[in-house]
Amino acid sequence: MQVFKFGGASVKDPQAIQHVANILKEYQGEKLLVVISAMGKVTNQLEEVYKAYIEKKDELPTLFKAFQDQHIKVVEELIKKPDEAKAALQVFFDQMQELFDQEPVQNHPFIYDQIVSVGEMLSTTIVSHYLNAQGIQNQWLSVKSCIKTDNTYREGMVNWEKTEQSIKEVVNASESQMMITQGFLGATPENFTTTLGREGSDYSAAIFAHCLDAMKLSIWKDVPGILNGDPRFIKDAIKINQLTYLEANEMTYYGAKVIHPKTMRPLREKNIPLEVRSFKEPHKAGTLIRHFKEKNEALPPIIVIKRNQLFLHISRKDGRLLTEKDLSVIYDLFDRNLVVSNLSAKTAYQWQVAIDLQVFKMEKLLKDLREHAYLTELPKGSYQLLTFKNYNVDFVAQHTQNTQLFLKQQTGDVLHLLVQGLQVVKEG
Ligand code: ASP
Ligand code: MG
Repeated sequence: MQVFKFGGASVKDPQAIQHVANILKEYQGEKLLVVISAMGKVTNQLEEVYKAYIEKKDELPTLFKAFQDQHIKVVEELIKKPDEAKAALQVFFDQMQELFDQEPVQNHPFIYDQIVSVGEMLSTTIVSHYLNAQGIQNQWLSVKSCIKTDNTYREGMVNWEKTEQSIKEVVNASESQMMITQGFLGATPENFTTTLGREGSDYSAAIFAHCLDAMKLSIWKDVPGILNGDPRFIKDAIKINQLTYLEANEMTYYGAKVIHPKTMRPLREKNIPLEVRSFKEPHKAGTLIRHFKEKNEALPPIIVIKRNQLFLHISRKDGRLLTEKDLSVIYDLFDRNLVVSNLSAKTAYQWQVAIDLQVFKMEKLLKDLREHAYLTELPKGSYQLLTFKNYNVDFVAQHTQNTQLFLKQQTGDVLHLLVQGLQVVKEG
């Protein structure tokens, strides 16, 4: 059994879906579970629909109509006799309409999940019907019968025991070799839909791979694999051939966006290899992530960039030295406000810390700190956190040209720099 994951970009339009079908055709006859995201930017679009609904905006019917038409158009372009597929989509449209006919209830995260989840239901319905029309026999699975979560809407927590049992049952009962299902979604014990957090389809695929003891998980992307730096900021980015789970985790933790940070753990636990590979060049090897006994000789110098950082300085109101006790209070306030310290340093009178720019969390955190008799200072501007691994001096120099350094930390073979002024080299 293998698990494949195709993201939004790989199913963004009829041509892209045809391309996915060409890839899948080569795997006919093998046991394959395929996890698919919503088409293109559909999830963002559904967030707008959701907003329009809860804010009772007049444009809701227009937005919703455009959303339906767009999906129907794809079906009509792809499938010669589209009636069956269109009827299957209509079921989801009707469910949405039924919701919109009611006054929005107060539980907004719940509503969010019921609306935003439709993107994956539609994309998988379209792909599954198209494949069948092309003679690529497959079965559409509702992921709600597989991935079981608690009731934390917008960030469903997986109930592993129930999920493993359900996935095994559903997949064993399937008569088809190829199964098509949704990423990003799960179901509560009451069978309401939950989402697992934005960009969560990678995680969904890892959950399936884990529960099915898959031979391998392939995440198909529009890049050749994991690159040694974001091509928008570094010239001549190259593909990394192999990474350990921990190296890959470290990269995602410090801001690499290629795979969702939650993806690695379920795979690592069962030593299931993950290949991040290009759907544009499906026969080329991508980046292979797994355990390696030997030292990873294949590792090029790597730079990971986390943008939109704030540099917060915290000191005592009474001007005294900052103690360990102070740090424990401050860390506790960070924890309670779910703010993560990305990089920090303590001086005699200050704790300086780089954090993600998140306006709502920030206001509350700053208020709490002031109430606990701390002064907070937010030097102007946005900062970038650069993380270097397997680096050499030239590589660092080359990528920090014209930047101004504010904080520097080296831990083992990893170097962190908090800078301002990093330049975009290529828009995209
Ligand atoms: N469609 C969802 C999102 O855009 C999940 C995913 O693509 O991974 O966040
Ligand atoms: Mg996506």
